[in-house]
Amino acid sequence: MCIFCKIVNGDLPCDKVYEDEKYLAFKDINPKAPIHILIIPKEHISYLSDVDEENKHIIGDMALIANKIAEDFGIHKTGYRILINNGPDSGQEVFHLHMHLLGGKKMVFTA
Ligand code: 5GP
Ligand code: ZN
Repeated sequence: MCIFCKIVNGDLPCDKVYEDEKYLAFKDINPKAPIHILIIPKEHISYLSDVDEENKHIIGDMALIANKIAEDFGIHKTGYRILINNGPDSGQEVFHLHMHLLGGKKMVFTA
């Protein structure tokens, strides 16, 4: 079982910031910004590229959760970045779909 599935199951701890029936969001263990939250579906999906017609709503749902968390953390006006890594060149390290929410500082890297 992957580490994020273990977090969903409660086998591994996390610093939870949001949860509903289908999604979980928690603080990144190695934050790259003052606010760095990971939003995941509870269902295991390995890659963004595995998302299809049937489950594409997951991406929209995660974006809405990111917006809500950004409001909760007071960065909805200063701005924030959402990011999904997919595959080797992106640097994806955990193979359970997750959206990064980064904020609280000016981002230097522009894609
Ligand atoms: P990726 O590079 O796969 O898009 O990002 C994986 C992220 O998960 C990294 O930013 C890393 O710091 C974070 N991470 C890895 N293991 C854990 C963990 O056990 N708990 C938490 N909260 N974050 C983790
Ligand atoms: Zn998983």
